[in-house]
Amino acid sequence: ASLVTAPPAVAAAAFPYQDPTLPVATRVTDLMSRMSLDEKLGQMTQAERGSVSEAEVGTYRLGSVLSGGGSAPSPNTATAWADMYDRYQNAALATPLGIPVIYGVDAVHGHNNVHGATIFPHNIGLGATRDPALVQRIGRAVAEEVSGTGIDWNFAPCLCVARNDRWGRTYESFGETPDLPSSMASIITGLQGSALNGPASVLATAKHYVGDGGTTGGTDQGNTQLSETELRAVHLPPFEAAVERGVGSVMISFSSWNGTKLHGHQYLITTVLKGELGFDGFVVSDWNGIDQIDGSPGTSAQDVRTAVNAGIDMVMVPVEWRRFIDLLRAEVQAGRVTTARVDDAVRRVLTKKFELGLFEKPLTDRSYTSSVGSAAHRALAREAVAKSQVVLKNAGNVLPLARTGGKLFVAGKSADDIGNQSGGWTISWQGSSGNTTTGTTILQGIRNTVGSGATVTYSRDGSGIDGTYRAAIAVVGETPYAETTGDRPGSLGLDTADLNTIATLRASGVPVVVVLVSGRPMDVAAQLSGWNALVASWLPGTEGQGVADVLFGATQPTGKLPMTWMSSASQQPINAGDGKTPLFAQGFGLTYEPSGGDDTSPPTAPGTPVASAVTSTSATLTWTAATDDVGVTGYDVVRLQGSAETAATTSTTASASVTGLTANTSYTFAVYARDAAGNRSPRSGTVTLTTTGGGTGGGCTATPSTQSQWAIGYVIQVTVTNTGT
Ligand code: BGC
Repeated sequence: ASLVTAPPAVAAAAFPYQDPTLPVATRVTDLMSRMSLDEKLGQMTQAERGSVSEAEVGTYRLGSVLSGGGSAPSPNTATAWADMYDRYQNAALATPLGIPVIYGVDAVHGHNNVHGATIFPHNIGLGATRDPALVQRIGRAVAEEVSGTGIDWNFAPCLCVARNDRWGRTYESFGETPDLPSSMASIITGLQGSALNGPASVLATAKHYVGDGGTTGGTDQGNTQLSETELRAVHLPPFEAAVERGVGSVMISFSSWNGTKLHGHQYLITTVLKGELGFDGFVVSDWNGIDQIDGSPGTSAQDVRTAVNAGIDMVMVPVEWRRFIDLLRAEVQAGRVTTARVDDAVRRVLTKKFELGLFEKPLTDRSYTSSVGSAAHRALAREAVAKSQVVLKNAGNVLPLARTGGKLFVAGKSADDIGNQSGGWTISWQGSSGNTTTGTTILQGIRNTVGSGATVTYSRDGSGIDGTYRAAIAVVGETPYAETTGDRPGSLGLDTADLNTIATLRASGVPVVVVLVSGRPMDVAAQLSGWNALVASWLPGTEGQGVADVLFGATQPTGKLPMTWMSSASQQPINAGDGKTPLFAQGFGLTYEPSGGDDTSPPTAPGTPVASAVTSTSATLTWTAATDDVGVTGYDVVRLQGSAETAATTSTTASASVTGLTANTSYTFAVYARDAAGNRSPRSGTVTLTTTGGGTGGGCTATPSTQSQWAIGYVIQVTVTNTGT
């Protein structure tokens, strides 16, 4: 059957739905009153870019397009993505009603399908940071990179509570207890911004609803066998947190609950999620997920009917989208799916499209395109990497390593491999080893840190080491994988190559630091006594410098285990509070004082300046000295005019005289510290002073009167009293 309906012959902006001053609900109602059944079914349909042409998006009035893991335009650049997005969008806009398409991707640790994007640590590492504010900032950065390619919708965060380390998606989990994913739902606020139609705002998806991390044996897409009380206590809370944060969409889990596929679970989707939790966004199915409902391959009428009646509003039918539309139309015409259900689904989808501002700003905001892989985002990722490292063993305080003197040896398959340190969902769906995208490998980070202060020798398998080295760093663990292929029902230990590498290093007699790059805790209890130190690095992403920051003490380790660490694989599943004896408990993590020098990150900000001896043309500013482990060598005093800065003076002590001012004028100053390498600290708080009216020199005092908290420090208002002249 043809889906094309006759275009209403009307002028642009003639309808209430096109009027941005009207309430969203009014616009949706108006738009829906003009839509045919086929146009509504199109809104409920999501096709994969590789299986749908731009023209078909227009012809079939499709509501959504996605790029599944690794599905990218060629060349895989941010600009090519934006161009591709705009082509699809223009096709949608050219239809009679001009309803924009919503385009979704899995930007699950950065905009990871795009070459050159910033790749952040996978969720397991972010869980180790225990820092929801940091994770929210990461959400904002990801939203900017995603927006710069036009994309409107992110299939993230995964709020799974991973209960069995055998599961191949364990690294997509912020932690094994509901408190961690719940608090890290802060990433939703970062992704969606303060308003859905604000700058660089991306619709977030809480996934996979519900119980995806609780399957028996940790089998991907398996069965979660739990009482309703346990399901609600362990797996539901992160979704409650997501709804509280206004998450725009929820993706259904491939898994089953007590034998019933979530994709057909009306009670959990409609009664609990939409009813009890009050979720007012739209529910999307997972990739071909409805096909699993009737147990036979191929999308069937039963699959379609059950899924839509269960409460799924948009169906991810990547390839079989035409068949889905035909089947759903037949179900509606036969009365087995009500038009009320269709209208509810379409209303939910369109409401988010209006709220996102898609009707007003349908095309890519190219002002964000240069944010893809920007220096600022990489610096944020590096900070997150450092905060995600968990030091599990540090015998004889081998860590932090000194950055100067002697020779260091680095080995292991993940020491110099961006692909390995980034893991799955990086450039391709499953990820892969090798030079897949741009970034800093852990080895490069180590070399940057020691500079010319020490010799660094690298060999992948450890060959070439002898007893003359100060320490050996073995970077080993897992190679990339994603859902399904990542399940490990057998051994959770290191592979033979890794064990051999470490054995070679140990045979030299040099202290060995093991850096474990893996998507989950690994079974290392049998080897641990032979290692001097063990650091869980998780899957840090492209900014390997953050690992070196911790190894050399530029950053103090603060990461804590988001998951219980097994004493043996036979303990799986092992989780906090289950009475089993772990190797390391959830929450464990050692620390040490930062040391070893730091010439790659800025010093801390100096204290807020205070003004004194204010005259008609000059004043003295005094602040507290900034500290940094390689020493602050000077200060830059700047004058602020709105967001602009004018250099005022420099100083090598914690005070300076500012001169050349005009009488009876208000000035605001702030101070930066500089270290030996020329890095500038964050700006200090500010001091505002008003020069006096007449005379010069003495007789004026400046007293801080009020103090109020401000974003980057304190603002001190100074009252100047002219006591002389
Ligand atoms: C995964 C989802 C993902 C979807 C789209 C599925 O295989 O389970 O997490 O969002 O693919 O790529």
